[in-house]
Amino acid sequence: MQLKNLSKVNFSDKKVLVRVDFNVPLTSDGKVSDDTRIRAHISTIQDLLNQGAVVSLCSHLGRPKGEKNLKYTLAPVADALANLTGWKVKFIPDIIGEVVDNAVANQAKDEILLLENSRFYKEEEKNDIEFAKKIAKNFDAFVMDAFSASHRAHATTRALSDLLPSCSGNLIDREITMMSEARDNPKKPFVLILGGAKVSDKIAVVENMLDKVDTMLIGGGMAFTFLKAQGKEIGKSLCETAKLDFAKEMLERAKAKGVKILLPTDAVVAKEFSNDSPTSVVSVDAMPQDMMGLDVGPQTQEIFAKEIMAAKTVMWNGPMGVFEMPSFAKGTQAIAIALTQATKNGALTVIGGGDSAAAIAKFGFSKDVSHVSTGGGASLEFFEGKMLPGIEPFIL
Ligand code: AMP
Repeated sequence: MQLKNLSKVNFSDKKVLVRVDFNVPLTSDGKVSDDTRIRAHISTIQDLLNQGAVVSLCSHLGRPKGEKNLKYTLAPVADALANLTGWKVKFIPDIIGEVVDNAVANQAKDEILLLENSRFYKEEEKNDIEFAKKIAKNFDAFVMDAFSASHRAHATTRALSDLLPSCSGNLIDREITMMSEARDNPKKPFVLILGGAKVSDKIAVVENMLDKVDTMLIGGGMAFTFLKAQGKEIGKSLCETAKLDFAKEMLERAKAKGVKILLPTDAVVAKEFSNDSPTSVVSVDAMPQDMMGLDVGPQTQEIFAKEIMAAKTVMWNGPMGVFEMPSFAKGTQAIAIALTQATKNGALTVIGGGDSAAAIAKFGFSKDVSHVSTGGGASLEFFEGKMLPGIEPFIL
């Protein structure tokens, strides 16, 4: 999938608005505690400055639900961006109105404006065109770079693209290049790893990818619904009873298509959902009734790792266990290590955002795989085969 990117538009001397995702975590005294999301947009902003553009930025932060609530102000992010880059960054306390009109009219070329939280207006989440017009009137062009918000059709993620000459920024360009190569053009063998708590969150991914993959490795809480569908006793493990028929159908469909679905063969179990609860490793054919599976066991880790290391393309979404607790993190860590090895062997390895990205960052391997997506929900919808409304206008 090719996108209309920064190279396709002339930004020289243009007033450009960039939609970034500065939805960063803040400390209780309002300081940015993790600047990963800010760093992700520096390349786009730098490219625009190099082209002679006059740059302003807009974003959402948190869920202020259409009300001006200063708990969610972007003001601290302006300081964080300035400290990180040395750029002159001026915070503007609104996204529309006279204060923005004046600031943009008097903006110096080497000054970057950061406009206030777009979600202070309820029109934002309604993709309201009149609201978008009020934002657009101060600018000559628009760059959409907020991949992690691109699955939402909001005024600043979609309507602005329809109103101004626009293109995608470098972050979105890289996300889509890497993920579409894995999804649409995978080198074989292609292994998809799914985990996490809920089957229902991943149903559409399983359905969309079943035709494309050679092997699907299923771990995490969601594996137990599949094991139950095979008639196994799963004790107190997570189970979505309403999804048992779906799991059965997928296992049958995979068999008919010659796609391997591998489920855990052993599990780390405990009586309580707690790091301090004593653990044991059991076969999935002998799960104790009063215990729950909270990680994949060592045999499963080995089987899964072998598949991953033999693959040419790997996509991973969802942890293998409750990786937030050290007692149940080994399965997820083993998968992360196998991915780094597969990458060394020349495979394309793509990690969907959200918990898998948090896990690989926690283990310190983010730089040892081909791509870690910045968007949990957006990458999931991309793997589901859905059109992302924030990206649709730029598909060539
Ligand atoms: P999801 O948002 O569906 O990808 O789920 C991610 C969450 O699943 C993480 O917070 C994990 O702690 C949790 N998880 C993974 N494996 C299990 C399990 N076996 N039982 C309960 N929760 C799990």
